[in-house]
Amino acid sequence: MPQESIISLQDIHLTLKSDAGPVNILRGVDLTVQQGETVGIVGPSGSGKSTLMSIMAGLEVPTSGSVCIIGKRLEEMGEDALARFRRENIGIVFQSFHLIPTMTALENVAIPLELAGESEAFSLAEARLKAVGLADRATHYPAQLSGGEQQRVALARALSTNPKILLADEPTGNLDGRTGEIIIDLMFRLHEQEGTTMILITHDDALAQKCNHQIRLEDGRVVSATTSREEALAGE
Ligand code: ADP
Ligand code: MG
Repeated sequence: MPQESIISLQDIHLTLKSDAGPVNILRGVDLTVQQGETVGIVGPSGSGKSTLMSIMAGLEVPTSGSVCIIGKRLEEMGEDALARFRRENIGIVFQSFHLIPTMTALENVAIPLELAGESEAFSLAEARLKAVGLADRATHYPAQLSGGEQQRVALARALSTNPKILLADEPTGNLDGRTGEIIIDLMFRLHEQEGTTMILITHDDALAQKCNHQIRLEDGRVVSATTSREEALAGE
């Protein structure tokens, strides 16, 4: 029996109004991801990658099409239910991090844990910061951190509650090669240990190839979908 897919997007369209007329940002995207899979999303700047991630997170509502995540149709959920669902199931690393400027690195990482009612929120957050190599930056505010350090805090925050799904927008985009490798290893280790489903937007071909599947977006459409070699062989 085929397992129920953890992410199912059907014929997603997103059209925004502008002074120059409607802009078609997504133009019929279908995507199905099974639990525990990793998907690399690639494509040129402006092709709709970040927008697609927002839709998977229920942060942006498509003009048409259906979004089903862990068996829930997001379009049928109210704001509060959606916020709770997201908090309990999805970790998000935004392209521009979205850290809270008035909170320290440690506090930023601890928020999702506190919201989840975790009594050990701060010690768990400390362990997550340590895992991304930032134990010594715990008391620093985002403005005191480099772009790469903020990115690692954002990842520690996204992973703090062991989400079923990790959505990450260019998670290594601001990191030097060596730090990038450490962060990729960290994500894939968690994926192996916890079975985390990961959707990674990336410009790094090597990172995309590490994923089970690769999706290429161009101009709001999926123009190619490939499966890594080991997967393809295993499926034969
Ligand atoms: P990518 O992440 O692949 O670079 P985005 O998803 O950020 O692409 O954007 C896709 C297209 O949608 C771009 O042309 C961008 O300018 C446009 N866009 C994104 N968000 C908005 C918005 N809120 N209003 C108008 N246009 C937007
Ligand atoms: Mg983007």
